[in-house]
Amino acid sequence: MSAHIIDGKEIAEQLRQEIAGEVAALKEKGVQPGLAVILVGEDPASKTYVRNKERASKNAGIHSEVYRLPADTPEAEVLRLIGELNGRPEISGILLQHPVPGHINERACFDAISPEKDVDGFHPVNAGRLLIGEKCFVPCTPTGIMYLLDKTGVELKGKRAVVVGRSNIVGKPVALLLLNRHATVTICHSRTADLGAETRAADVLVVAIGRAQAISGDMIKPGAVVIDVGVNPGEEGKLVGDVDFESAVKVASAITPVPGGVGPMTIAMLLRNTVEAAKRQAGLA
Ligand code: NDP
Repeated sequence: MSAHIIDGKEIAEQLRQEIAGEVAALKEKGVQPGLAVILVGEDPASKTYVRNKERASKNAGIHSEVYRLPADTPEAEVLRLIGELNGRPEISGILLQHPVPGHINERACFDAISPEKDVDGFHPVNAGRLLIGEKCFVPCTPTGIMYLLDKTGVELKGKRAVVVGRSNIVGKPVALLLLNRHATVTICHSRTADLGAETRAADVLVVAIGRAQAISGDMIKPGAVVIDVGVNPGEEGKLVGDVDFESAVKVASAITPVPGGVGPMTIAMLLRNTVEAAKRQAGLA
């Protein structure tokens, strides 16, 4: 058996086209979605992510502003900029690129973003609303994962879902989203006693740990759907996931590749959240 490869690149491209169509329709109603991205410092991966977000926004017709600040920018200046952007009606969404340099309290900065403009879904108000199942902005990678599962036709109700990783940006929110869809959810982490026993019980396995190829085929239940969130440096400059694709593809019924699986969905969901923010601020949603 060889698993169906879930083509995140293709699914994200289709979604981006739909979003571009929605932006064009909004513009006809006088609503122009706008996204402001703040990048502090010179982290090479962050610079690439921000460039990609800027390009994708522009391609979708979203007004885009990028603030590239030097690494030694004081926290007070970042907070001042966030305050200014909170007050500007043409900015629907604000994103502070993670991680920020060590002298800046990242949590204080996320907390300063207005919950209505928090298109990354990191503000405690949005995290709390997700917990109690209210309308909110949900972090982009978890929503992208749910979108991929839905597009692949994966039934979640009553299924056993195992999430490996408990970060605030991936593991915990994706576990809540799966729970909201009536899966029976287990969350694993670095102190889980027998990881293989947990993962082998999963009908749907989501792995977000940042450990190259840590989950091998023998840790996967035959026929499981496997979502690999990890992005790790592999051999010869290639990127590899947290799942050992070669052994997993022989056991799973469907699997996301790295690259080209979850990654492209994250930006598409950022665009979707930005459009949603613009609609809510215009009283259209
Ligand atoms: P974090 O480092 O914030 O969290 C990692 C989690 O994995 C922690 O909960 C940790 O447990 C757990 N963990 C670490 N090692 C093990 C292990 N050996 N066994 C079981 N659990 C383990 O990572 P993120 O959630 O931010 O990211 C995870 C991965 O996903 C990274 O590779 C990242 O690059 C990628 N990523 C990809 C995105 C995309 O768009 N494709 C977006 C975001 C992230 P504990 O809590 O006990 O320490």
